[in-house]
Amino acid sequence: MNNELALQTLDALRRVLGTNPQQLHEPSFEGNEWVYLKDCLDSGYVSSVGKYVDKFEKDLATYTGANYAVAVVNGTAALHIALKLSDVSQDDEVLIPALTFVATANAVTYCVAVPHFVDIEEKTLGIDANKLRQYLADITEQKSGQCVNKKTGRIIRALVPMHTFGHPSDLEGLISVCQEFNLNMVEDAAEAIGSYYKGQHVGTFGLFGTLSFNGNKTITTGGGGAILTNNEILAKKAKHLTTTAKISHKWEFRHDDIGFNYRMPNINAALGCAQLELLDSKLFSKRNLFSLYSDVFDQFSGIKLFQEPENCKSNYWLQTLILEEHESENLQKILESTNNSQIMTRPSWVLLNELKPFLDYPSMDLVVAKSLSSRIINIPSSSNLGNI
Ligand SMILES: *Cc1c(COP(=O)(O)O)cnc(C)c1O
Repeated sequence: MNNELALQTLDALRRVLGTNPQQLHEPSFEGNEWVYLKDCLDSGYVSSVGKYVDKFEKDLATYTGANYAVAVVNGTAALHIALKLSDVSQDDEVLIPALTFVATANAVTYCVAVPHFVDIEEKTLGIDANKLRQYLADITEQKSGQCVNKKTGRIIRALVPMHTFGHPSDLEGLISVCQEFNLNMVEDAAEAIGSYYKGQHVGTFGLFGTLSFNGNKTITTGGGGAILTNNEILAKKAKHLTTTAKISHKWEFRHDDIGFNYRMPNINAALGCAQLELLDSKLFSKRNLFSLYSDVFDQFSGIKLFQEPENCKSNYWLQTLILEEHESENLQKILESTNNSQIMTRPSWVLLNELKPFLDYPSMDLVVAKSLSSRIINIPSSSNLGNI
């Protein structure tokens, strides 16, 4: 094995990043964060009521173009409730990509449902709609308007596209698969605030979309998430379920369902309001960082810098290098040389079907996901790195 590609990669990263140590993705607070947080402390409204929660929800709806946004404690909780309100219930199957963060599968299991892993495509890093259509035509049948897996006898209830590293999946293709096979679509847009598919913000195409505002995401509320939907009734149900299913009343504590304490606290929402004001400038910097990386990696052979799919505008949450197949044995060497030099790089997730809790769950053949998971390297992507 030769070290040459690893050395060249380190050198290229240094040309963009200089000699300082770099994290994979750091938050930055350059706006009204202190002002809004101080306002929360001064007013005493730090917890589950307060004006910033309402404002953040309105601002999110305005930004994404969704009719409604419900702010919650994290992106995983957002997915849990979105799936629950998409009728995902015990023993249903939910199609999810094999290459995603573990939260996507965890949320399915919180509904006592079964994750069913599907393959992805190299051009979007999201679910391959054509391969999925053929697979479903093979293994399912329609029974009274429901999609039944002939092998397991279970209903396949929903499909969860995930917009990997902020890059939109093939939404048109996936929507048509959902229509053909009677599946509900919930978009895991945790990584994709500020990303657009044919001019429309992702997370607004399905019955629900979900966002995450964890500390490593494009904008952060410390921890946090949101449920997006265009459906008024579903939005009200989402709000109700995430706020302990309490019936609104001046003093009475009456709950009409088993609810969840998933509401985003006011101080987190305050941070979110300030971060959302900065989102466009962060997106601008992230695009600029992409073009700085392009300048050095365009001349490379054996590695390419992943570019937003056609007809899409990506937020470029995490910048991504993809090794060509014949170079995949260099992945570990590149990870070693960069991390040893204080430039934080990371491989993609281990495929979920290979994780201990999910070994026994169904999956289609996952050749592309398997191949990509041995060739992806995320490189430092913080928005401040692209400042000009
Ligand atoms: C970040 C993330 C989530 C949600 O994460 P939380 O930490 O719960 O906010 C879900 N799915 C994907 C793909 C993610 O990257």
